[in-house]
Order: sequence, then structure tokens, then C-alpha cells
Amino acid sequence: MSYAWLKQPWMNFLAAAKQHRLAHAYSINWDKQLGSDVFVEQVVNYLLCQRPSGKACGQCKACELYNAGNHPDLQVVSDDDKASIGVDSIRQLSQNLYQTANQSGNKVVVIYQAERMTEAAANALLKMLEEPPQNSYWLITAKRQGLLLPTIRSRLQKIVLSRADNHATITDEQRAHAQQLLAALQGKQLLPSLDSKSAAQEWLVITEWLFSDWLKVAHRAPFQALTMPALADDLSAHHKRYPHHADVILRSQRELAVIKRQSFHIAGLAIANQLRQLWQSLRAKLNG
Ligand SMILES: [Zn+2]
Repeated sequence: MSYAWLKQPWMNFLAAAKQHRLAHAYSINWDKQLGSDVFVEQVVNYLLCQRPSGKACGQCKACELYNAGNHPDLQVVSDDDKASIGVDSIRQLSQNLYQTANQSGNKVVVIYQAERMTEAAANALLKMLEEPPQNSYWLITAKRQGLLLPTIRSRLQKIVLSRADNHATITDEQRAHAQQLLAALQGKQLLPSLDSKSAAQEWLVITEWLFSDWLKVAHRAPFQALTMPALADDLSAHHKRYPHHADVILRSQRELAVIKRQSFHIAGLAIANQLRQLWQSLRAKLNG
């Protein structure tokens, strides 16, 4: 995710997906400056992908169709200039949804700026949300969610995208502590050699998750709230495909457990900040 503040909502979504407890319908606040469009695209791609892991695989038939802009099981009420969304648009969605999925996977509907729905359209949507067809997912975006019918809002699980301010100041003592711990981690070869650009990029993604877990630890989140353990399971299951990353992530998981056990909350935050600087330079190199 290219916007830092999208990571947490994305991880929440992913955790729900992995535990098979996704809601059928989500509301997402619409603001392109917050990257709502990026977030929605990533969710849609993930839901349609036939082999999703930490994100859509980008290689299966579904991903190919999605990337070409013509996946038959994706329906969109677009973000155009029309002042309203009429009942016919919603009925059309309904017809397509009740047909069998073309790619035998999920069906996804995205409604952009849903506050434009007429009353009849909103009622038609409500009917569908009351009994959603199997394997169908709804992403309802709105700039002004307060304008959606309360009965619709109550059926949507809210995803809130916001630019939360995560600044934290670190004392010299904390920084020294962090440096010690980081050196210890590097001594155990936590950081792989960047022998290929794609390996380095994948590693960057993993460290971003690690970073976020460390931040959570720093804020005394319970261990169950962390992403790395689930990700580690996932990677160990695909160990052959990602031998190196699985190793990195398993080590990271152990480090997290140690940090958690010893209540190094502040150290966790300081390390997270160091890791952030580390990737910023890596990212600059990779993009250069
Ligand atoms: Zn895929």
C-alpha cells in the first residue's frame, strides 16, 4: 500500500479474510486524496483472485481479467458525473448477481458515491443487502456517508480510511536501546542480501508488516492483534515458493515474541522507526 494510513485497514481486512469472517458488504469513505481508490482496487483484486495470499497474486486468470479491466464477476456503478444513481442501475446489478459466477469465484460489486442513489435505488439495494447472494461482496463508497439510508448503513461494515497522525518522539536512551536491538537482529541475518530487485521488493513488503506489528507492540496491542504470526503461517505453508522470506518472517515472529514477553514496548517503537528509515532508503534505491 503506497499510503501508510491504508496499511492498518488493509491488514484488518486481510485478517478477516484469512479467518473466513469477511462481511458481505462494506462501506468505505470516498476521498481520492486518502487513496480510497487505491484501497478499493486492492480489495476488489484480492476478492477476485483465485490464489490470494498477502495480496492478489497478479498471475491467475482472475487477476489477468481484472487487470485487463474485464472481469465478468465484477460490477461497478461508476464514479461518473451523473447526479443520481437510478433504480435501474441497481436492478441490473441484482440480475447479474443471481447468475452463477462466470469464473466460479466471488462476485464483487462496487458502488461509487452511493449517496447519489435515488430513494427507489436505495430501497432496491437494501433488499439485496438483506439477502446477499452467496459469495457476493459489496463495496459501497460514499463521500458523505451520512446521506445513506440508516437501514443501509446498519448493514454495512465500516472501513474508515483516515490519515491518522502517528508521530512519536524518541529519547536518546530509547534510540540507543533500539540500536542495540536492531544490531542484534542484523547479527542474526534478519536482513537478506538484496540479490534481486523482486526479492528486495518482496522483502520490503514483509518488513512493512513487521514495522506495523512493532508499532502495535509499542502501543501495547495484544499478541493476537499482530499480523506477522498469521503471515508466518501463510508463508511457511508456501515455504518452497518463498524459502527466504519464510525464514525472515519466522525469525521476526520470534523477535516479536521476545519483545512482547520482555515488555520492550518503547524499544519496539524505536526499532520500528529505524526500520522505517531503512526501507525509505531501500525503496529509493529500488525505485532509482
Ligand atoms: Zn490472482
